[in-house]
Amino acid sequence: MGCLFCQIVEGEIPSEQVYEDATCLAFRDIRPQAPSHVLVIPKQHLDSLWDLEDPELAGQLLSAAAHVARQEKLERGWRLIANTRSEGGQEVDHLHLHVLGGRPLGSMLPSAGV
Ligand code: 5GP
Ligand code: ZN
Repeated sequence: MGCLFCQIVEGEIPSEQVYEDATCLAFRDIRPQAPSHVLVIPKQHLDSLWDLEDPELAGQLLSAAAHVARQEKLERGWRLIANTRSEGGQEVDHLHLHVLGGRPLGSMLPSAGV
């Protein structure tokens, strides 16, 4: 069974893409938790942030996330989340950053939701 997000990169599963560059892809989350909810992923498969050892790729991902936030016009504020491994709430085992915004997000504590 293939990786879901690798299949999205390959175009085998449809997604609403909002940004793409040589190393990263960004597409809308299928179950949005905020008016803007975009997932930013490396095209190359890495299981999670745990496995991210390449500082250049880390910079590209972060830069892509900031680009998406600007493109989504989240000037009032936004949040970047990287659920990592099972106790971190990660459900899809392909590294992804959540870009969330478009509503007040409240406290950053997990108990407050998001
Ligand atoms: P995680 O809990 O792993 O950080 O988040 C995985 C995210 O992927 C969830 O927010 C979920 O809604 C999203 N997701 C799961 N399957 C799909 C899919 O097939 N397409 C898209 N666009 N998002 C998905
Ligand atoms: Zn993958």
